[in-house]
Amino acid sequence: MVNYKDLGLVNTKDMFKRAIAGKYAIAAFNFNNMEQMQAIIQAAVETKSPVILQVSSGARKYANQTLLRYMAQGAVEYAKELGCANPEIVLHLDHGDSFELCKSCIDMGFSSVMIDGSHFPYEENIALTKKVVEYAHQFNVTVEGELGVLAGVEDDVVAEHHTYTQPSEVVDFVSRTGVDSLAISIGTSHGANKFTPAQCTRDANGILVPPPLRFDILEEIEKEIPGFPIVLHGSSSVPQDLVAQINQYGGKLVDSIGIPEEQLRKAATSAVCKINIDSDGRLAMTAAVRKVFVEQPGEFDPRKYLGPARDTLKALYKLKLENVLGSAGKLAK
Ligand SMILES: [Zn+2]
Repeated sequence: MVNYKDLGLVNTKDMFKRAIAGKYAIAAFNFNNMEQMQAIIQAAVETKSPVILQVSSGARKYANQTLLRYMAQGAVEYAKELGCANPEIVLHLDHGDSFELCKSCIDMGFSSVMIDGSHFPYEENIALTKKVVEYAHQFNVTVEGELGVLAGVEDDVVAEHHTYTQPSEVVDFVSRTGVDSLAISIGTSHGANKFTPAQCTRDANGILVPPPLRFDILEEIEKEIPGFPIVLHGSSSVPQDLVAQINQYGGKLVDSIGIPEEQLRKAATSAVCKINIDSDGRLAMTAAVRKVFVEQPGEFDPRKYLGPARDTLKALYKLKLENVLGSAGKLAK
């Protein structure tokens, strides 16, 4: 049994409180390997941002949960070495699907967990979430719950259609479970193909414009639970320059559409205080690797393509922190 505090990690409580008051959001970036972790920490340190390192079920299968925990511990020391005296780094379980999994993460040093009971009937979601909260809070670990289901594909989380969060349920859910934050469904979506062209309109230049997020639902939720931390999953913007670079260098991404950054910027000024971004990072790394493979076909040193992938990822994350989420310069001290 290890407590996250002994690893230099923090939970989400204080950073979310400041984010809501300050009208910005904290980024939750997924990581599966060393290069992604380095890019996240470099971006966070250089922008003086609090940040959430997020571990999905796919990451646990790919990289091993124990190894990822030690990497997060290393991330704290790495941030200090890069010149950040008091980094604020959360190690968060993304889409935990059982009490046992959440418990095992809490016991090994995670500072925050998500229990995703959104696919269960309402009362089962409450019972499961409450059980995780009761365990987690003994150790000051914060818990994210979910109401409503996002469309799209992310590792093992798959749903064909949105089920928007019902504002009438949030007070009951939050008060009965005791969760610290709530993931909601207002039209964001997992993966790099968030919408079909048929769901979009076209602007004057023929560029696809995705349907807007349901800010009306978000506003209703905020009225029900004023000041309560809200989380948006599936919030990649799928930058079209990265999609174009991937396709230019032999890739084949079709109809990749994300959430426009203006909409995320608007959400960040509300009670939305955690925004999850995974697909954009995948696109950035793939675009960089493909470019090296095509332009330098004789190259076979992994550092020569993983290095540029890491640099591209870091540049993307810095832009997100500075221009989209607004968390730059928001460290407590
Ligand atoms: Zn998610």
